[in-house]
Amino acid sequence: MKAYKILIDGKWINSESGETFSSLNPATEQALGRFQSGNENDVNRAVDAAERAFETWSSTPAPKRGEILLRAATLLRQEKESLARLVSTEMGKVIKEARGDVQEAIDITEYMAGEGRRLFGHTTPSELRDKFCMTVRRPVGVCGLISPWNFPIAIPAWKLTPALICGNAIVFKPASDTPLCAIKFVEILQKAGIPPGVINLVTGSGEHAGLPIVRHKSVRCISFTGSRETGLRITKEAGIKRVGLELGGKNGIIVMEDADLNLAVDGVIWGGFGTTGQRCTAASRVIVQQSVKEKFEKALADRVSKLRLGSGLDPKTDVGPLINRNAVEKVQMYVDIGVKEGAKLLCGGSRFKGRGFFYQPTLFTNATYDMKISQEEIFGPVVCIIAVKDLDEAIDVMNSVSYGLSSSIYTSSIRSAFRAIEQIEAGLTYVNSSTIGSEAHLPFGGVKQTGNTREAGIEGINEFSETKTVYFDYSGKLQKAQIDS
Ligand code: NAD
Repeated sequence: MKAYKILIDGKWINSESGETFSSLNPATEQALGRFQSGNENDVNRAVDAAERAFETWSSTPAPKRGEILLRAATLLRQEKESLARLVSTEMGKVIKEARGDVQEAIDITEYMAGEGRRLFGHTTPSELRDKFCMTVRRPVGVCGLISPWNFPIAIPAWKLTPALICGNAIVFKPASDTPLCAIKFVEILQKAGIPPGVINLVTGSGEHAGLPIVRHKSVRCISFTGSRETGLRITKEAGIKRVGLELGGKNGIIVMEDADLNLAVDGVIWGGFGTTGQRCTAASRVIVQQSVKEKFEKALADRVSKLRLGSGLDPKTDVGPLINRNAVEKVQMYVDIGVKEGAKLLCGGSRFKGRGFFYQPTLFTNATYDMKISQEEIFGPVVCIIAVKDLDEAIDVMNSVSYGLSSSIYTSSIRSAFRAIEQIEAGLTYVNSSTIGSEAHLPFGGVKQTGNTREAGIEGINEFSETKTVYFDYSGKLQKAQIDS
């Protein structure tokens, strides 16, 4: 079986630990390769290399950095189909969605390449005469990027490309379930011309490879996407550095009685069961107005029961496997809790016997807002229906969770739509479309326990640049702000 390496200072080498782990195809449980179990020594070397590379990379003109990213986008486009098949094989995503994962990476890479010719600061008048004020963007320094497995090409791209265009050097630790996708993505960046040491890639566990990056004093910024629990740990361990957190979600779709119900069913199927419910933006709660509940849930249950479970590579598959065995156990635990709490199981509710980490698409109804299945992130193909009497109650239920990432409302009333936009506590609100589908030029992120940052768009640039304020006094005399006028 092929053994893959870590990347330090432009060279692919073995970890000092001498240990490896494997990544499995979740549909077949077959190992895809051996990967290095990186440790603190590897991280220290990676940070040293990044610090050295930072000097030249940060002073390379940003449009030149953009040219390299543009070449990377072209290479990604050329490799799109093989990368999509890899995403499908390593992570289990249905092939169409896997293509979307790669397309997101292409989009953000192109967008960030263009930022190389912008990276705007601003100018503003001074309160004193003969004095000029402006802001300029500076890179942060060495950035530690830690990614999850559920968008194994797109999320690395959302982190690496803005960090690179701003002139930072990187130590990147991908999730242990999808190291091969990360390696292939970094190889493309290397091929496009990113100089040695600017990107260093250390595979391995969160504890042994992730934590040393978080704690390292020379790492100036951590950009983390993953679970709330890990996010909390990182916050405690990071010390004084920038920490950008993109954490979990418990997203909801409101369906009002004046909605196009067929469209809403389509939206729930896509938002709830796309990527097997393993999206931070997955719709796991459907908040339906009581007057249409029966009609809606019947139509939804009919569609859910027809979803075809299978390998992501099979074009007939609607829902692929979960990422690993632990995920199957976790989903089963929540389904058992839901049944015990008194929610009614309409479809699914059991795991698949046989090879692969499959779980039946599952639909609960008669859930209440305060049940565990309505409050906690399950991260699997489980959706619960909660009935409400009106829009006020729907918004209260929507806001009753500790997370605040994505939300959606289906309605034909402009008034209801705008009230939802105003009152829902979430980073994203969709009107008459599902909770998923972000675009590279718009900010992405959440409020409350979902995190503290925004990625993509210009916000992605803010995450990876420092603003320096410049006061330029050409008066030739001492002028004192707030004192002289
Ligand atoms: P996770 O928290 O288990 O792992 C994420 C990454 O952190 C992995 O690379 C892991 O190895 C690393 N890690 C684990 N412990 C660490 C530690 N102590 N120090 C440093 N690094 C550590 O999450 P996951 O299971 O890979 O991903 C699923 C979670 O990610 C879900 O909660 C999902 O909602 C969330 N997510 C959020 C977004 C978003 O943008 N808000 C996007 C995708 C996924």
